[in-house]
Amino acid sequence: MATPSAVVGSAVNGGSSGATATGLIMNSGAASGTLAETIASMAATAVASAAASPSTSMNATVLEKAQQAKRDEDTPRDLAIGLAALLVLVMIIVHPEFLARLFASMRRKRVEHAEDLARPSYVFDMQAKKNQQQQDVVAAPRVVAGGDLWTGWFLRAGKKGTTSAFRAGGSSTAVDRFPPNTESGKNGVQPRSALAPPPHIAPLTSRLPFGSYLDKAPFARWASPFTTRASVSSLIVIAIYLAMTLVACIYKSNVAKKTSAHGYGEDYTRTGLVAMVQVPLVIALGVRGNIIGLATGQGYDRLRIFHKIVGRVCFVCCAIHTIFYLNKWGKAGTLGKSTKSNVFITGMLAFAATCLIIITSLPAIRRSAYYFFKITHIIGVILLLVGLAMHVTVAVPWVIASGAIYLFSIIMQLMKTRFARAELVAFGGSTTTLITIPGITAGWRAGQHVRLRVLNLPYNKCAEAHPFTIASAPDSGGLVLMAKAAGDWTSSLYHLASSGGDNDGEVGVWKRKAHVMVEGPYGGLGHTLPTAFSSIVLIAGGSGISHSLSLTQDLIERSPTGVVGARTIDLVWVVRVQQTARALMPTLNTLVERARVWEKRALDGRRHGADLALPIAVRIHIFVTRCPDSSPLTLLNSQPSGRNNMHEKLSPSASGHGRSNSVDSSDSHGSDESGQYTTDDHWALPVMPGVLPARLSARLSGIFQPTAAQHTKADWLAKNPDNVRLTQVYSRPTDPLEAMSEIFAYRGRPDLNAIMASVTDETISRHGRTLTDPTGIFVSACGPEFLVNDARDATLDVKRWKRNAVGGTEFSAEFFGF
Ligand SMILES: Cc1cc2nc3c(=O)[nH]c(=O)nc-3n(C[C@H](O)[C@H](O)[C@H](O)COP(=O)(O)OP(=O)(O)OC[C@H]3O[C@@H](n4cnc5c(N)ncnc54)[C@H](O)[C@@H]3O)c2cc1C
Repeated sequence: MATPSAVVGSAVNGGSSGATATGLIMNSGAASGTLAETIASMAATAVASAAASPSTSMNATVLEKAQQAKRDEDTPRDLAIGLAALLVLVMIIVHPEFLARLFASMRRKRVEHAEDLARPSYVFDMQAKKNQQQQDVVAAPRVVAGGDLWTGWFLRAGKKGTTSAFRAGGSSTAVDRFPPNTESGKNGVQPRSALAPPPHIAPLTSRLPFGSYLDKAPFARWASPFTTRASVSSLIVIAIYLAMTLVACIYKSNVAKKTSAHGYGEDYTRTGLVAMVQVPLVIALGVRGNIIGLATGQGYDRLRIFHKIVGRVCFVCCAIHTIFYLNKWGKAGTLGKSTKSNVFITGMLAFAATCLIIITSLPAIRRSAYYFFKITHIIGVILLLVGLAMHVTVAVPWVIASGAIYLFSIIMQLMKTRFARAELVAFGGSTTTLITIPGITAGWRAGQHVRLRVLNLPYNKCAEAHPFTIASAPDSGGLVLMAKAAGDWTSSLYHLASSGGDNDGEVGVWKRKAHVMVEGPYGGLGHTLPTAFSSIVLIAGGSGISHSLSLTQDLIERSPTGVVGARTIDLVWVVRVQQTARALMPTLNTLVERARVWEKRALDGRRHGADLALPIAVRIHIFVTRCPDSSPLTLLNSQPSGRNNMHEKLSPSASGHGRSNSVDSSDSHGSDESGQYTTDDHWALPVMPGVLPARLSARLSGIFQPTAAQHTKADWLAKNPDNVRLTQVYSRPTDPLEAMSEIFAYRGRPDLNAIMASVTDETISRHGRTLTDPTGIFVSACGPEFLVNDARDATLDVKRWKRNAVGGTEFSAEFFGF
């Protein structure tokens, strides 16, 4: 075999007298043909001569070198097998959940009783059967649906519609797709929805004793450069990978042995071989058309952490390999001669390429000059592959594999690219551009993103592709993106949009048309099926709202079909200033209106005995962090009057309440004089002036007398405004037949722990009333790192018994940066 000989040979080229043994291998290898044969014959000779004269250290050295050469020959194969085994192990852990969810969601089985899908508790099951027999009503069968995991690969022009909630400056012109609640079906039985939600399949980790800790990101809050978003499970995979690589570098290799003749290290090739094996892997983990992503069901964005780790390991191995050789040649005094050799020149080319990639990937450069980083990355990879292929022939198959992976990715990207006409709308107050592409209406899943090129931008920007999360639901009238002006490109886009005419006379809003290239969809929620959960919490910071919007719109539009299991969505949006939120108020209002229309219709229908699907209530909480007490929150005031689904909450501090704000013990309503609800007892029904009819309020206040403990709690809460504000929402009466969709606005930051605790309690209570088992709470966070970290912690901090009681909590993080 010529190739390993060449590798060994490369060690010999620069060698001094100390390379005698390897030189022997080379020479005899050249004569006999294969390295293996050579090693075998060398080893046999060495053993024989060592036996004849054990005192000769020469033979021992030859034997050792031969073994090392054999080990080096095997290393690439063994390491590749090890890495493949690690991938298979990850797949074995990930796939049962993925496949179970995939097939569960695709199960087109007819179910006679929809209740079966909600895994009713025993009592409810018995009761349901009894009722069934008594009434002798044969309900129409339902079909399990929500086969979302099959979709989200290629964008397409689906059905045209006008249901988009994204109508700048006005309320929606939404098509009424919701079924009526008045028509009776056969035999006077109201028609039921045809579909049922997919069953919830809990992740494997939730079955482990401390499984939730696997989702923690222990280094997420560390200072740079030690910070990483990797969860404990990802860190375990990384630790196994590092251990394997270390073993590959040192097993049967005297890489760190110090000798007087050669300085440190005698196995100069091993680390080079280990680096070579990593090249296809690092490319496979970094590209968008991602084979490993396909195998593990993860988007390329979620594999970036592994791409970075493998890339750095590759660089370190490369550096050790290079330094050892330079050291060796320097000590032997042959450095000058070696620099003229092909091996040296091509090796240095490959090493320089890895240095270029690593240096330009440093966070400071990547953040400040993303496109410079990107272009140098591509140039670096090409130089690395060329250098490597010319350096040693053993590297050629690995270079070909790397090229094939890259080519596959480019083909995938081209297949996912669409040309389209877009409408750009610039919102002056928030320097945000809304991009609507009516020609692309389907082919994505809520939560996915696309890469956008705008061809009308100047020549130096029109080829740049930037990622944006899709803000609209599929099949809702077009693909909508929202781009906040964050740097050069997004500012140019904003200026391009604002160079157009006024948007139908709206002040501070401009629009124009543009040609765009859209590539995607990518990423998303992986295996998670939001339709399978009992409650949903979406947490967004700033422009992260686009991620939550698509999910919310998707669930609202699909809820009448019966495919949505969740009864509530709590969308928490944190913005710095009111202007940011104001641009989106018409959209938010439209969404809440849509949800409310169906909520009312479905609940009315159910009240009259119709077997309609349960609706989903959308509660939007907007937190304005920079709103001084002196200036009023005017977010909701700007909305058309007559909407009773909006509540603007002034914080107690704004109303001048401090300690005196605490609940008077004589106030059995638990509300202070400003009407703020001041107890977090979610089981009690609070009295909120103006929200409940006066008569009902009076009756309730008589029933629910706060205890001394509640007073103490209320007193404490009054001093902690965030908690006070949240309890206003969650401790409201939760009549299962009452519409709950609303918008709330608050000053300050949200207390995510309180929100999670409240949603958990509410879910337990709701299912307790209907005697059904809840199917989990899904939490998704998108926005700045600190917000996502807080959201993750709040989700994982929910008490264990409560997490179990709601059927488990699942968390998904989305970042606007890699
Ligand atoms: C998956 C994903 C989804 C996103 N969704 C949205 C969204 O819905 N709305 C929104 O306003 N913003 C979103 N962003 C952020 C948006 O892509 C950047 O703000 C934009 O690319 C900045 O480009 P710029 O030249 O204007 O700013 P720059 O000053 O060049 O960059 C600002 C920051 O954005 C990053 N960035 C720049 N270009 C890219 C790129 N091509 N790919 C990845 N990161 C880049 C840089 O690291 C830098 O930290 C998303 C980012 C990602 C990764």
